[in-house]
Amino acid sequence: MNISKIKDFIKNNKILFKYSFLIVFVLLILSIVMLKSSFGNFLKAMELKTFDIRQSIIADKKTVSDDIRIITVDDESYEYVINKYGEWPIPRHVYAQILDYVEAQNPSVVGFDLLFVHSMRNNKNSDDRLGQAFAKYDNAFTAINFDDTNFAVRKPPVLPEAISYMPQNVPVEKNTEFLIYKNCRAIIPQILNNTKNVGHINTSKDDDGITRRITLTVGYPVYKIENDEYVPDSVRYYDYMTYKMFLKYTNQNHGNYNTFSPVMLNWYGETGLEDSRKFKYIPMWKVIDSMENGKDKLPDDTFTNKVVFLGTSVFSLSDIKSVPTSKYMPGVEVHATLFNNLLDNSFIKPASPAVNVLISLVLAGIIAFVCFYCSSVAVASVVSVVLLAVYLVFSTLIMQFANVWVWTVLPVLSAVLAIIAVYVTKYILKSRDFELTYKLATTDGLTDLYNHRFFQEQMKLCIDDCRRYNRNFSLIMIDIDFFKKFNDTYGHQAGDAVLRGVAHTLKRNVRSSDIVCRYGGEEMAIILKDTAFEEAKLIANKICKTIAAKPFKIAANTEKQVTISLGVSTYPMCGLETQEMIEFADKGLYAAKENGRNQVGQVDLPQ
Ligand code: GH3
Ligand code: MG
Ligand code: MG
Repeated sequence: MNISKIKDFIKNNKILFKYSFLIVFVLLILSIVMLKSSFGNFLKAMELKTFDIRQSIIADKKTVSDDIRIITVDDESYEYVINKYGEWPIPRHVYAQILDYVEAQNPSVVGFDLLFVHSMRNNKNSDDRLGQAFAKYDNAFTAINFDDTNFAVRKPPVLPEAISYMPQNVPVEKNTEFLIYKNCRAIIPQILNNTKNVGHINTSKDDDGITRRITLTVGYPVYKIENDEYVPDSVRYYDYMTYKMFLKYTNQNHGNYNTFSPVMLNWYGETGLEDSRKFKYIPMWKVIDSMENGKDKLPDDTFTNKVVFLGTSVFSLSDIKSVPTSKYMPGVEVHATLFNNLLDNSFIKPASPAVNVLISLVLAGIIAFVCFYCSSVAVASVVSVVLLAVYLVFSTLIMQFANVWVWTVLPVLSAVLAIIAVYVTKYILKSRDFELTYKLATTDGLTDLYNHRFFQEQMKLCIDDCRRYNRNFSLIMIDIDFFKKFNDTYGHQAGDAVLRGVAHTLKRNVRSSDIVCRYGGEEMAIILKDTAFEEAKLIANKICKTIAAKPFKIAANTEKQVTISLGVSTYPMCGLETQEMIEFADKGLYAAKENGRNQVGQVDLPQ
C-alpha cells in the first residue's frame, strides 16, 4: 500500500515536472514571438502606453531646475506682434534686440528654438543685424533642422564645418542606430557663417506619434557632385542645440554620453503657470514691452545666470509635440525638459529585453507556484493579484527613483498565462485522481475484476434496462473446485496466483460488453448482456473447457490445473430480482458440484 502511494506520488510529480517545463517553454516561445512579430509590435505599443502612464504618475512629483526660463510666443504675444509689426514672422532685428536685452542681464546660455531660414521678404538689413548679434555672444545658440527631402525638391545645402562636431570615434554603423539625414533647410548665412553655436532640433517620434526619444548627435553628409548627382563624400556630425547649450553651461567637453544612440526623456508633466515647481514661462510680448520700457517692466535680473529658451507655443505656428505626459507640449518645453534631464543626469534607462524576459519568467514562476500549491482558488487569486499589483508599483518606483524602465505588459501577460497553465494542469491531475479513485472503488485488488459492490450495481442496472426495453440478460456464477484443498496443498500464494489466472482467463473469453466480477472468495460472476439462457449455457461450457485445459503458473517452473463449476440464470425467466437470479444460478452451481464438478449445472427452467 505504501509503495503504491509512493509510486503514485512520483507519477504525479512527473506530470508536474513535465507541465512546468511545458509552461516555461511555451512562455519563452511566446516571448520571442512577442518580440519579433506584429503582435509584438502591438505589445510594444501597449508597453509604451504603460510607460506614459508611469511617466504621468511620477511627473507630478518632480520639480524642475529653477535656472531655466522660457520666453514664449504665446497667443497673447502673437496678437501683440501682429498688431505691432503687422506680420509674422516678425523682422529679424527684433530678435537681435531681444537677444541684446537678455544678454545685458548676463544669462548663462540662450537658445532660440526658431528656424531663421531664408526670408521671402529678403529683408537683408534685418538679417545682417541678427547675424551680428549671434556673432557677438558666444553663449547664444540657434537651430537648424535636418530632413530627408528629395534633392529634386531642394538641393542639399553645404553647412560650414565650424558648426559640426568631429567625434574621435565614429560609431560603427551596425552597432548603433544613429541617424544620418539626407537634406536640410539652410538658415541665413549671416548666422551660419558668424557663429559655431548652431545645433539641430530634430526629435524622433515613436509609431504612435509621441515624442519620447532624441538623438543628440546626428549625421549629415558633405556631398560632391558627380554627373549632376549628389554623392556623399563624407559625413559630418551635428549636435543637438540643447546639448551644445548644456556643454557650454557646464563648461564641459563633448562626450559624457553616447550621443549617437537616442536618449529617452524623463518628463516633468503639465506646466502649470501657477506651479512654481515647473518650467517658468515668460510671454515674449512682456520681454518686448520691457525692452522698450513699457509699463509692466520685468525685473532687471529676470535672466541673470539663467538658461533661457525662446520658442513658440501658439498652435497656429505648429511647433507642438505630443509627449508621454501631455497631448500638446510646445517644442521649446521639450528643449527645457532635455536640458533639465542633462542637468539631473536623469534620462530613462530601458532595461534590456533579456532582463525583461527574465522578470516575466520569475513573476510567472512565483505566481504559478502559489496557484499550484494553494488549495483555495480565492486565496491564490488574491495573492496573484497582490503580487501583480506589487510588481506594477515596483515598476513605477524604479522609474521614479532609478530612472529605469522595466516592462509591465509581458510580465503581466506571462503571469496570466502561467495561471491558466496551472489550472489546466490541476484540472488534468484532478481528473486522473478521480479516475484512480473510481478504479479503486470498483475493482478488486487481487484479481483486477470488478468487485462485489459494482456487481450489485450492474445487476440492478441490467434488470432495470431489461425491464424497460423488454430484453433479457444472463448471469453465470463460477466456483473453483476443491480450492480449499488446493490452498492446503500448495499454499495461499499459489492459490492467489490461480485466482488471478482464472480471472484473467475469464476476462479474455467473454465479450467486451460482458462484466466479469469477483463475487467473493473463489467465486466469480459474469453478467452477459442481451444473452438468452441457451446461449449463456454455451458460453459457460466453453469457459469450463478453457479453464480445465489451461495450466496456471504457481511458482517458477511449476504449473497446476484447476477446474470450475458453473451455474447459469437468465432474466426474466429465472428471476426478476438480483437475489432470485443469484439463487437460481447457485442452484445450477450446486448441481454441478453434486454431479462431479468441472461442468455447467443442469437445472430445469421454471415453467
Ligand atoms: P468446492 O469444490 O466444494 O467449492 O470446494 P472448495 O474447497 O472450493 O470449497 P470452499 O468454498 O469450502 O472453500 C473455498 C476456499 O477458497 C476457502 C479459502 O481458503 C479459499 N479462498 C477464498 N478466497 C481466497 C483467496 O483470496 N485466496 C486464496 N488463496 N484462497 C482463497
Ligand atoms: Mg466456494
Ligand atoms: Mg470452491
